Amino acid sequence: MTKILGKSVATAEQMANYVLSKNPNPRIEIPILALAKLYLIAGEIEGVRGDLEFARSCHETGNFGFKGTVTPDQKNFCGHGTTSSTNKGSYFPDEFYSVLVQMQHAKGYATAEPLNYECLDTRYKYVKLGSAPNMEDMGGKWAVPGYDTKKYTSLEAANAAKDSYGYKIVNILNEILSVGTEEADKPEDEKKETPKEDAKPLAGKKICIDAGHYGKYNRCPSNPAYYESDMTWKLHLLQKKYLEQLGAEVITTRPNQATDLALHARGTAARNCDLFISDHSNAVGSYMNELVDYVAVYHLTADTTTECDDISKTIAKALAPAIADVMGTKQGYKILTRQADYDRNSDGIMNDNYYGVLHGARTVETPGLILEHSFHTNSTTVNWLLDDANLDRLARAEAQVIAKYFSGIGVEVNKDTDVPYCIRVANVPEGDVLNIRKEPNASAEKTGELAYNNPNKFTIVAEQNGWGKLKSGIGWINLKYSVKV
Ligand SMILES: [Zn+2]
Repeated sequence: MTKILGKSVATAEQMANYVLSKNPNPRIEIPILALAKLYLIAGEIEGVRGDLEFARSCHETGNFGFKGTVTPDQKNFCGHGTTSSTNKGSYFPDEFYSVLVQMQHAKGYATAEPLNYECLDTRYKYVKLGSAPNMEDMGGKWAVPGYDTKKYTSLEAANAAKDSYGYKIVNILNEILSVGTEEADKPEDEKKETPKEDAKPLAGKKICIDAGHYGKYNRCPSNPAYYESDMTWKLHLLQKKYLEQLGAEVITTRPNQATDLALHARGTAARNCDLFISDHSNAVGSYMNELVDYVAVYHLTADTTTECDDISKTIAKALAPAIADVMGTKQGYKILTRQADYDRNSDGIMNDNYYGVLHGARTVETPGLILEHSFHTNSTTVNWLLDDANLDRLARAEAQVIAKYFSGIGVEVNKDTDVPYCIRVANVPEGDVLNIRKEPNASAEKTGELAYNNPNKFTIVAEQNGWGKLKSGIGWINLKYSVKV
């Protein structure tokens, strides 16, 4: 028997890949992987197996194809309140709300123990508490009749044949658990994109970056160490560094952190640039809200006179999931659009919109994006953003996406390491040699070698893709075969 309560075993990747193997186009508004993660999180909140409930939703929605009574706009993944082919049942405001309700409803069936979170399930009161501790018990309860009446004369007969509602869901869970993760399925040599050596994919491009706020602005309500202004200042400098590493010319809107500038002026600073970016973290009101956690990327639409809105839209589509991936946000990401021709004071000049930076950029025909790096009203996000190493990862990921858009080339941006430093030869098999090569890659011309037992110290003056440049200028070695000394 498969208990409703407990810890999930399947990973979000297994759950998502299962659905995609059955239905490549799930009719949901967020990526299936993001939805799978919500099941694991919401399950944990109520002590319910999120992976098992996800299997229930696969069954209820036909792998999110929604060919039955319930329609995708209801965001109802478990037939909540759906009692007949004419009664569509509940509508939910967002995916996380829906999944949490599902967990609460399932918990009610599993146990009479109280809910951990405020009851959002409007039908919890109808549940006979503790009447179905196992998924196999759910036939005739969550789903009525819960078996194929053409095949079986009773629920008991269907249960005996393990072919009732609950058994079908358990079978789905077992299939999910047998899914290999995408990474594991790929052949070894396809796992990592080969980094291009010394690539400058952004050569000739000019990018303007705006730290969203100045001074000490937008403090986290519960953690006095965090200011949105501080985070965006640090982040935009890292973005600048990595975009420059990829060959771009980068300008910033503020000469220093203490300088205030009008929104529209910051946008128009992007004159003659290929892209404008404004960095932020978001807030839900002025209190903490631990549930809301997603990346939002804003761009303008409805402009027909230039191409810039189309460009910003395309970059937004690539950037938003990449940011959400690095940040691991609970609700993934949203791409939000604003009308380009909104003139609040009707003076014919579009410089007074709430998204004034984007209007400014558009005025000078530069594609613009506002990047909201999730919410500083969420303590997990705040702790994450306070870690400079995370900002570094974020900036690198963002630079890579931008480079990919402009050049079509996938590149890896290397983290800066402090050079020079000293190494000694290590990890080379006895009797073998460590090759020195002209360029930092294994196929470059060999310019020398070091014996496996060479006792000398060597100075590394530059690093690239795991290779180190020797101070003597003779060439590069693969740093795998060295230790820092
Ligand atoms: Zn902001």
